[in-house]
Amino acid sequence: MEKLALPVPVANFCRDLLRWYQRHRRDLPWRRKLEPYSVLLAEVMLQQTQVKTVVPYYQRFLKRYPTLEDLAESDEEEVLSLWSGLGYYSRARNLRRAAQQIRDCHGGEFPRTYEEMIRLPGVGRYTAGAVLSIAYGQPLPILDGNIRRVFARYLKMDGLSAGDDSPPLWDLLTRLSRYAAARKEVSDLNQALMELGALVCTPRAPSCSRCPLEGSCLGLKAGVQEKLPLPRARRAVKRLSYAVAVVCHQDRFLLARIRESEFLKGMWEFPRIRVKDRERNLSPEMLEGAFHRELGLSLNIGGLLKPVRHQITFRRLTLHPAVGTLRTATPPSGLVWADPGGERSVPVPSYVAKIARLYRQIHDC
Ligand code: SF4
Repeated sequence: MEKLALPVPVANFCRDLLRWYQRHRRDLPWRRKLEPYSVLLAEVMLQQTQVKTVVPYYQRFLKRYPTLEDLAESDEEEVLSLWSGLGYYSRARNLRRAAQQIRDCHGGEFPRTYEEMIRLPGVGRYTAGAVLSIAYGQPLPILDGNIRRVFARYLKMDGLSAGDDSPPLWDLLTRLSRYAAARKEVSDLNQALMELGALVCTPRAPSCSRCPLEGSCLGLKAGVQEKLPLPRARRAVKRLSYAVAVVCHQDRFLLARIRESEFLKGMWEFPRIRVKDRERNLSPEMLEGAFHRELGLSLNIGGLLKPVRHQITFRRLTLHPAVGTLRTATPPSGLVWADPGGERSVPVPSYVAKIARLYRQIHDC
């Protein structure tokens, strides 16, 4: 394995970066008290999600489950409700299972070794390193998209693409984390690297004149900083069209649990069927037949609301809301009446709340 080296002594690199961090770091709620539970929660929420989106979710979640024990004792549906709108719901399920595993297998004490951390549900190399280095000062590296981008540019790593898991880079970061941990600075160093990628060495138009590494950055010297890292190969987008039955009664909507094997498992949504046709071909009669055939749902459909688009990872959904009433006195088993987004709602993905809002702008329930 090729060994990466910094263009300046490690001591200078760490000193410049840490000075910058002390002056410019953001006052984020999870930085106020660096405990393993709050660091884990923040790191899990921040995966694929921006800081400004995460902050209110983080605060609400911690208010409802202030300790790991509270989360371990929680109800999964309630956890998913608090997570509604943040996406990637397996993160919430894994976080709750991790809390239960810590309660059951570690006597409620957060693991202190990498080997134990990595065995927790949903915890990978990055998250284990982040929690143990930030909360406990352990000599462990972290490598996320921000840090990969900083080093791709700083070291002018021409062959590194955005999604690469680069062993030489992990090795360099391990050496840096050991150096910093010996000086009790690894928590700040790892956070400083993330912060630099988030605030200065940003994906587009890095602010090199404000960067503490400006003087030694190889990418900047070569004028290629904006071309690195190479873009990652994108997964092909899958387009899916569905019709959803919007049936409202006494201010509550008829909702179904999402089937086990599909995306957003465990959440609740409007009864949904796959359609191939474009909107203009979706007639109430055709949809009434299809809902009855596929879900045993007898409906009178009065019309369609404008389609709602929603993206879940690589899936681009087009949802055609079909507004109707039930022909039967009671809904088929497994369906419930609920108020999506209401105080005591079942957990729903954000497109359900969006369609409910759209409906209420036009109709009385
Ligand atoms: S000098 Fe510019 S390209 Fe280099 S690390 Fe700093 S912000 Fe990134």
